[in-house]
Amino acid sequence: MSKSVRVKAKEKADLLIVNADELVTLAGSNEKPRFGKQMRDIGIIRDGSVAIRDGRIVAVGKTTDVKGIFKAETIISANEKTVLPGFVDPHTHLIFAGSREDEFEMRVEGAYYLEILSAGGGRLKTVRDTRKASMEKLADLGSKTLDMMLEYGSTTVEAKSGYGLETRDELKILEAVKRLNQMHSVDVIPTFLGAHAIPPEYKSDKHGYVDLVTSEMIPKVAEKRLAEFCDVVCEKGAFSLEQARRILDVGKSNGLESKIHADEMSMLGGAELAADIHAISADHLLFSSDDGLKAMASKGVIAVLLPAPAFSLMTGRYADARKMIDIGLPIALGTGFSPSCMVENQQLTIALACHLMKLTPAEAVTAATINAAHAIGRAAEVGSLEVGKKADVIVLDAPNHKFLGYHFGSNLVDKVVKNGRIVVDWEEKRGKPVFLKESEVS
Ligand SMILES: [Zn+2]
Repeated sequence: MSKSVRVKAKEKADLLIVNADELVTLAGSNEKPRFGKQMRDIGIIRDGSVAIRDGRIVAVGKTTDVKGIFKAETIISANEKTVLPGFVDPHTHLIFAGSREDEFEMRVEGAYYLEILSAGGGRLKTVRDTRKASMEKLADLGSKTLDMMLEYGSTTVEAKSGYGLETRDELKILEAVKRLNQMHSVDVIPTFLGAHAIPPEYKSDKHGYVDLVTSEMIPKVAEKRLAEFCDVVCEKGAFSLEQARRILDVGKSNGLESKIHADEMSMLGGAELAADIHAISADHLLFSSDDGLKAMASKGVIAVLLPAPAFSLMTGRYADARKMIDIGLPIALGTGFSPSCMVENQQLTIALACHLMKLTPAEAVTAATINAAHAIGRAAEVGSLEVGKKADVIVLDAPNHKFLGYHFGSNLVDKVVKNGRIVVDWEEKRGKPVFLKESEVS
């Protein structure tokens, strides 16, 4: 045999992540959200590797296989670490001004949210503060929140309006989302939630406010292309089933897909409505009927569950996630970040879902990645580590994904790669320990 057989030159990649104890790919069909037993299959590769070029994933597999094909100048060793797709947070009220720690204290002492709301507190306090803030100020505040979300591993985040409740201020909030999308490395997906609460000016004219939302706000939001989704809070003290249907219908005819805050504090029929109008998701679902949940499953509506907001309501009630999985309803998980639930951290969401809703760590990871991507129409782009998808990857300082439920309250993220670029590197940031006594440092 000739000795002139040449070894094929390796292809160049921008970045290789190698030797992951667990590479959690979530690979599979991206046609539909995962449901039932599928939610436990998270596509683990031991001693796994990801190759990245031009912001996209170009290879996923065993380290020996990927390294046999690709070389790169930047290599991240994920030895004794877990590698996952960046978290997707499908439900946040990202943009607002002010804070509500006083109300939090009232809740601790037993006040119920709807009482606080009817006394002019709750989200109406945030509305007052947000109306006073400029678009630039709101973008600045939102940017700080996104920094934190990214540090905890979220690389794609949905953001709702809803603290303006008048046309000018709702548009201002969505302009701030647009600005953030341009300046921040996190991808922000905008949702119009003009029907978040009844503003004080319309307290005795609810229908007048629904008219404003449908005849003025939605057409303007659509014309300026400021949102992809239209959301409604369908709840006692907010919007009725009929009003929600009307608002979402108008949203749909203006090109905005439907989402619903459904059955959070009472059984109003939001789950049934979500199924009936083919909403992409119904969120909260603490009080939904079995029939409503089954209807959602049959229509492929995703249940976006928000354990942190339920936790911070302090009623001890949570969505029945096990029942939902049993009936084949796909579940996604979000932080539900808002001024009444100040949590940016999807790792905590996963841990709460495990502890309080009895999701397995694998189910919770599926819910916070690929299913969350489905809930905001991004499953073709993010939510799993597969060739062709965006290179949004996180490296956890933990030997396996179960630590996300097990070791909670700390940030397990070691590195975040967004669009192929290392944007968070805790290993670098932490540097030398500063918590030793001075006498021990020398
Ligand atoms: Zn919400």
